[in-house]
This record gives sequence, structure tokens and C-alpha cells, in this order.
Amino acid sequence: MVGSARIGTGIPVAGPKAVERQMLEPWPEVGSGPFAVVAENLSKRYANIVAVDRINLRIPEGQIFGLIGPNGSGKTTTIHMLAGLMRPTGGVAKVAGYDVHKQPVAVRRNIGLVFQEPALDRNLTVQENLEFAGALHKMAPRLLNERISELLRLFGLENHRDVTVGKLSGGMRRALDVARGVLHRPRVLFLDEPTVGLDPTNRESLWQFLQRLRQEENITVLVTTHYLEEAKACDRVAFLKRGRVICQGTPGELVASLGSYVLEVEGAHPETIAKHLESCFGRGLTIGTKVLFAINDENFTLDQAARQLNRDVQATHLRRPNLQDVYWWLIHGYADKES
Ligand code: ATP
Repeated sequence: MVGSARIGTGIPVAGPKAVERQMLEPWPEVGSGPFAVVAENLSKRYANIVAVDRINLRIPEGQIFGLIGPNGSGKTTTIHMLAGLMRPTGGVAKVAGYDVHKQPVAVRRNIGLVFQEPALDRNLTVQENLEFAGALHKMAPRLLNERISELLRLFGLENHRDVTVGKLSGGMRRALDVARGVLHRPRVLFLDEPTVGLDPTNRESLWQFLQRLRQEENITVLVTTHYLEEAKACDRVAFLKRGRVICQGTPGELVASLGSYVLEVEGAHPETIAKHLESCFGRGLTIGTKVLFAINDENFTLDQAARQLNRDVQATHLRRPNLQDVYWWLIHGYADKES
């Protein structure tokens, strides 16, 4: 029975195929489709570094789309190009139906941007910060005031209107920063690692705000994150590695493509464990002192594994795969050869 357990090979196979499928789809005309963001072969090259390498994205309106990847994989560069802040060195992109290269002003009118560092003045109150942002967008005072009240309610900040930003908690500041980003009712919101430095409760709140925004305003959100457990709240995610999209899909699809279970085997000599168990469970993935095996057998039990374990093994754990596993396999696993 153990011998019949197979590693889940879904991800390495599904990744390039998914990308290939995308490239075969016709390029949507401006304003013709429900896509809020379209990128085709979008690239950015510095002298001897390819920061973003021919990426293809199609994000339908009203979706929350996550860009995931390690440091330096090209997430911020991608957002900067899509927001019209940086000129691509190759490819094309449209945001809210406008070409980011040819119509940057129209693009900027239709997007909201929330950077890694908050763009708020700590000496001004919540209200004053939003009024200042509204003035930059040339919003009429009455409409601006209505919008501020609406957003403060949505983000749970209505009792902090007159508090200076320096006195807000980190979570409140982040919420206010997002409120500032959507003040002018953009159709697309770009968020670059919005939850960095927030505790789990505030991270959860921020995701709830995004879901509410999407429900109430049908806004499209492109968010980058390092926190895999929160990326599962995205409708779709793309994994970036060295500037390339190596895989994309819904979190559920990607997790399912890994197999039925992940078997974790821990010990002081993980390389020896990996070698010993390879013939039974396929190639393992070593993460610190653990070796992970993707098991594609719904009836697999730990009893089956027990016979194969030896004295090197300190602990075993059989569990369902999650998005963090997808990340391990894509970024550190088999896909390495293919990217
Ligand atoms: P992080 O998660 O750390 O924010 P990232 O995925 O957003 O990283 P980018 O900031 O987009 O990655 O960087 C992608 C690559 O481009 C990196 O190798 C980075 O060093 C390089 N890069 C970014 N800006 C420049 C620049 N102005 N000149 C040269 N190389 C750059």
C-alpha cells in the first residue's frame, strides 16, 4: 500500500502549462472584456538584471488577486509598471482598460496605490490626511466629506476622525492608508505588502476591509504578500520566481494539485531521511530539519509510513496540504529546474 503512495506532481506540471494556456488566449481589446488588469509579456530589465521576465496576467474585475514570491522576485516592480510609475522594457499592459504606457494619466486616475511604507502625515489627524488626499484628487468638498464618512465607517475609524495619525495603532494606520488609497473610488487597487508588521488580528481585519470594499464597490485588488496563510483569501494567486510567473490558479486548485496529504518527517539528519524514504514516498523536500513528502493517496495512513521509519526519525506528522506547501514546492522544490 505504501508503495502505491505517489508524490503529488500536480504543481510542477500545472505551472508551466497554466502559463502556456494563458499565452494562447487572445489579447483582450481595450474596454472589451471584464478584465481589470491585463499584462502580456510584461518585462523590466535593468543593466544586467531581469527584474520582471515576460509575465502574463489577466485579472477579472472585482477579483482579489495575490502576487506571491520571495524577496527580489519582482512583485514591486510589477506593481510599479502596472501603476504607470515605471516604464516597462518589454511587453504591454492595460489597467482599467487603459494602456499603462500610452495612457498613464488615465491609468493613474483609475487606480489606488498603497505602498509598503504608509503615505500618511503623522502630524495631521485622520480627517486632515483624507482631506489632503482628496484635494490632490480634486474632489469636490461635499462629495469628499461624504466619502470620508463612508470610508471611516467601513474601516471602523469613525471614532478616530480627529486623532492625529501618530497616535493611532499600526493596524489603524494601515486601515487609514488603504482608505486613503480608495478615496477617489479607483477601479483597481494595488497593495504592496499591506500587512507587513501587523499582528494576526489586524491582518485579519485588513483582509475583511478588502472583502467589504470588493463587495460594496466591485473594486479589483492586486495585492502582494509574504504571508501564505492570508493569501488563501485571494480569488486567485500567481507565484513569482526570479521575475517569472511560475504558476497561477485559485488557492484551492493549487493546494489540491499538490496531492492528498503532506507527510512531514523530522530528524537531525534530514538528507539521510530523504534518501532513505525516497523509494517509498518519492522525492522529498527538505525544509530545515523536516523532510516533506506530497502523498497522492487519499487512503494513506501514518501506520503505512511507520514501517519505513528508522531511528533517525524524531517526529512524523500527516496533514492536508496548504498554500505554504505550494510555496515550498514551487520556490524550493521541483519547479526549480523549470523556471
Ligand atoms: P521584496 O519582496 O523584497 O519587496 P520584490 O519581489 O518586490 O521584493 P523587486 O523589488 O521588484 O522584488 O525587485 C526585483 C529585482 O529587481 C531584484 O533583483 C532587485 O534587486 C532588482 N531591482 C529593483 N529595482 C532595481 C533598480 N532600480 N536597479 C537595479 N535593480 C533593481
